[in-house]
Amino acid sequence: MKKTSKLYALVNGKCPTCRRGDIFTGSLYGFNIQRTNYSCSHCNQRFEIEPGYFYAAMYVSYAMNMAEMITMGFATYFFSGGRLDFDSIWIYVAVIFLGSLLLSPFNYRYSRIILLHWLSPKIKYNVAYDKP
Ligand SMILES: [Zn+2]
Repeated sequence: MKKTSKLYALVNGKCPTCRRGDIFTGSLYGFNIQRTNYSCSHCNQRFEIEPGYFYAAMYVSYAMNMAEMITMGFATYFFSGGRLDFDSIWIYVAVIFLGSLLLSPFNYRYSRIILLHWLSPKIKYNVAYDKP
């Protein structure tokens, strides 16, 4: 029997226990607002394992956002030919603000995926559930 790889499950937002069920409804940049499913449709793993569990994802999301803003800041510096003076500050503000806005669905999704896959000792991959 073929096991689902952890990378595949991470990238595609699959359940950390069976790596088959979807954690979220809808697609990353779809027209519907994405929501976190209550539990896995495949193995019944609850995603919010205790009330308020996803508050922890805010810290992950914050760290991701900081890293992205720093990256965008450096990219702006690079692509503007090293301009960094009082007049060019608005470019940085615009790029970082718009970039953060565009990345917010990505951060929402991947902060929860990282929390469930890497930072939740109570949730473990169970090969017995990893079958159709
Ligand atoms: Zn599952």
